[in-house]
Amino acid sequence: MPLHPVAARLEARILRQAEAARAEIAAFCGELIRIPTVNPPGENYRECAALLGDRLAAAGFEVTFDDPPADACPPGSAAYPRRNVIGRLESPLGGGGRRLHLNGHLDVVPAGSGWTTDPFSGAVRDGAVWGRGASDMKGGVAAAFFAAIVLQRAGARLGGTLEISGTADEETGGHAGVAWLAESGQIARDTDAVIIPEPFGSRRVCVGHRGVYWFRVVAEGEVAHGSMPFLGRNAIADLAPLLEEIRNEWVPELAARRTALPVVPEGARVATVNVNSIRGGQAGAGTESPQVPDRAELVVDRRFLPEEGLEAVREEVAHRVRACADREPGRRYRVEELLTVEPVRTPAGSLATEAVRYGVRGALGAEVEEVASPGTYDHKHVARVAGVPDCVAYGPGILELAHRPGEHCPVDELVHSTGALALAAAAVLGTR
Ligand SMILES: [Zn+2]
Repeated sequence: MPLHPVAARLEARILRQAEAARAEIAAFCGELIRIPTVNPPGENYRECAALLGDRLAAAGFEVTFDDPPADACPPGSAAYPRRNVIGRLESPLGGGGRRLHLNGHLDVVPAGSGWTTDPFSGAVRDGAVWGRGASDMKGGVAAAFFAAIVLQRAGARLGGTLEISGTADEETGGHAGVAWLAESGQIARDTDAVIIPEPFGSRRVCVGHRGVYWFRVVAEGEVAHGSMPFLGRNAIADLAPLLEEIRNEWVPELAARRTALPVVPEGARVATVNVNSIRGGQAGAGTESPQVPDRAELVVDRRFLPEEGLEAVREEVAHRVRACADREPGRRYRVEELLTVEPVRTPAGSLATEAVRYGVRGALGAEVEEVASPGTYDHKHVARVAGVPDCVAYGPGILELAHRPGEHCPVDELVHSTGALALAAAAVLGTR
């Protein structure tokens, strides 16, 4: 699908309006940060959805608040209600045009330690907006919203429908957010393109991510008195050879498998494995008793490449774990799957990719760099549940600051991304 041409004078007006809105964009990002939508557990979604919804309504969007049903929400979330907000702006020129959806997640990860200032200040200073979520991704939500505003101020009449949503739970898998909106048809197949302003930076467009195979290995031993360990079988000791194999054999072998997907940073362009946690014995039980532990477990995060494929990875893990068990009589492991995510890749030359390429050229005078994400985000639900393959991530921020203390977003990033998103929307939907 080709882009609609945007008149040079309109293009110039859009970019001028983005620049003129600099202080407002930064202030709105700060306002969003000051509502601490910390997830887990998922706090203050209603307040944050209301803030975005009110602004969208004031800009002429038709606004829907969506409360996902309990079975789409994580256990225990009755105390932390989930809420999504969707704004729709139909074309003033009548029906029949394209549909573009800009989606941002409203949740942020907990502040964590290491901050020297209030992590939810949303302060604007030294040319940046500061606080948890500034980059990931309240800056992106602010840029998406202001893309619509600057189009209006520039006098652009869009030839299609522009949707902007703010959703829950991306940081914990997105089931009550984008996945639910896709399942319930609120992000639907008739959407031509989706842009998610995650913080890859104003000069990069993200066209996909690697896959995830997350599993637990349980070592099964035999309980006995700790003073006579030879009568039992120590499950913790049985994990040791598996840990060594992961470190000495899996890691280097996987590092030799490289993907054609342009994953950044460079170190993530290969298959990887990480042991997330290890549990065993009576740790945390309070009182220790002399026992040989009969159960110990590892949780392992295997990130795989599109070239590997989920089924092959699943078989390889099962085979390697079984082989390790077979090296000693009595050693027993069980593999339990925790989470699988298929890799996604935006089709080359897609409408969203080309629109962002055009937007970045206009707003920054630069060629956009195509990258892929080391981790997954809501792209997977758009592609696999909603059935919209034409999805990219493009938004302001500093990726390396996501989830870290001192998170901020340069105001220049906000302005550039707002301009580029506005141009991209104009080129997708057409203007008159
Ligand atoms: Zn994010």
